[in-house]
Amino acid sequence: MTASRTDARPAAALGTLLETDEQRALRAAVAALGKRYGRAYFTDVVREGGHTDALWADAAKAGYLGVNLPEEYGGGGAGITELSIVLEELGTAGCPLLMLIVSPAICGTVIARFGTEEQRREWLPGLADGTRTMAFGITEPDAGSNSHRITTTARRDGADWLLTGRKVFVSGVDIADATLVVGRTEDARTGRLKPCLFVVPRDAPGFTRRMIDMELAAPEKQFELALDDVRLPSSALVGDEDAGLLQLFAGLNPERVMTAAFALGMARYAVDRAVEYATTRQVWKEPIGAHQAIAHPLAQAHIEIELARLMTRKAAQLYDAGDDAGAGEAANMAKYAAGEAAVRAVDQAVHTLGGNGLTREYGLASLVTAARVARIAPVSREMILNYVSHQSLGLPKSY
Ligand SMILES: Cc1cc2nc3c(=O)[nH]c(=O)nc-3n(C[C@H](O)[C@H](O)[C@H](O)COP(=O)(O)OP(=O)(O)OC[C@H]3O[C@@H](n4cnc5c(N)ncnc54)[C@H](O)[C@@H]3O)c2cc1C
Repeated sequence: MTASRTDARPAAALGTLLETDEQRALRAAVAALGKRYGRAYFTDVVREGGHTDALWADAAKAGYLGVNLPEEYGGGGAGITELSIVLEELGTAGCPLLMLIVSPAICGTVIARFGTEEQRREWLPGLADGTRTMAFGITEPDAGSNSHRITTTARRDGADWLLTGRKVFVSGVDIADATLVVGRTEDARTGRLKPCLFVVPRDAPGFTRRMIDMELAAPEKQFELALDDVRLPSSALVGDEDAGLLQLFAGLNPERVMTAAFALGMARYAVDRAVEYATTRQVWKEPIGAHQAIAHPLAQAHIEIELARLMTRKAAQLYDAGDDAGAGEAANMAKYAAGEAAVRAVDQAVHTLGGNGLTREYGLASLVTAARVARIAPVSREMILNYVSHQSLGLPKSY
């Protein structure tokens, strides 16, 4: 059997200049774990309607899930750089774990940075050791990409809060112990969003969910949520109700970096499979990979992936260094570049395999829709182009 590209370059490190010895070791170790499970494990779980609990538990045991969380709460004390390495390498092995974006990256970060001591002690050790999971809900049916229009509202009732609103496309609510819900307080119902975040336990009275029938082959399901006067103690509010966007973006920048890593893992998996196939599949005199019509688009996909990996690395590093503003621009660009690279890489990989590209055996066709997620969520391609037009280039706004 021909050695795969992943065998030849085990962990596809970014090089000694860009990655420390620890980061390269982490990459190699996660890649080895991912390989033990592989694409067949992931697609079997999806087919059986199950969850990736075994891989999740193994990743937790090795300290990968909470690698970004503070050591004093059971985490690894590293950053989003390391967590994005974990997600990218698991994706490269065929197991892109979407909940890594939500649970340790968004929710873990927000609680670690802005939660009370009590909230940190309650949530972080469980998020780190994999025994607890959190979902994150910001998207609303009538607001969509325009989060300034969200209307989920919290009003005070004595010492408690009553939370009412609708959310849509929220991932993993069924398996999450709680959802971190973005709302606004009653006195900030209109105008620029002044978000506040609440921890809503899965079984809180008045909190209901309906699974959305998605055309996605993924173990994580998406849900429409209804919150009808959900009563929450004052301790459910994470951070300060007046902290505003700063606190929200503390979670959203890691979300973009992690979505980039999610896309890059899938893209690398797809290109690896395509290269293996193109090296061995022969229908004329030479393997099909000798035809430039097959080779060049794969080379192009590889270049686009590597460029997106660099930008993802930049965004993660800026974030970990505490530069929230710099990380914002870079994280958006990284998510854009990785999402586009993944969509094109998967498309070309499927095409490279001809009919086999659409069989279950090769596990590639299901990535066609999965890769599209990275173009739409958590912020669409167009909204990133809007952001870059206005924030980076200073162009006027049309909306
Ligand atoms: C698999 C999956 C998982 C998800 N998980 C979560 C989750 O866990 N939590 C959560 O809160 N959300 C989640 N989302 C929601 C996701 O973040 C939204 O789908 C995304 O933000 C886009 O919102 P929308 O679907 O309402 O699209 P819309 O806002 O309706 O946009 C539709 C189209 O119009 C374009 N558009 C809109 N406004 C403009 C404009 N001003 N200029 C140019 N183009 C524009 C968009 O780019 C897009 O192509 C998930 C989505 C998916 C698909």
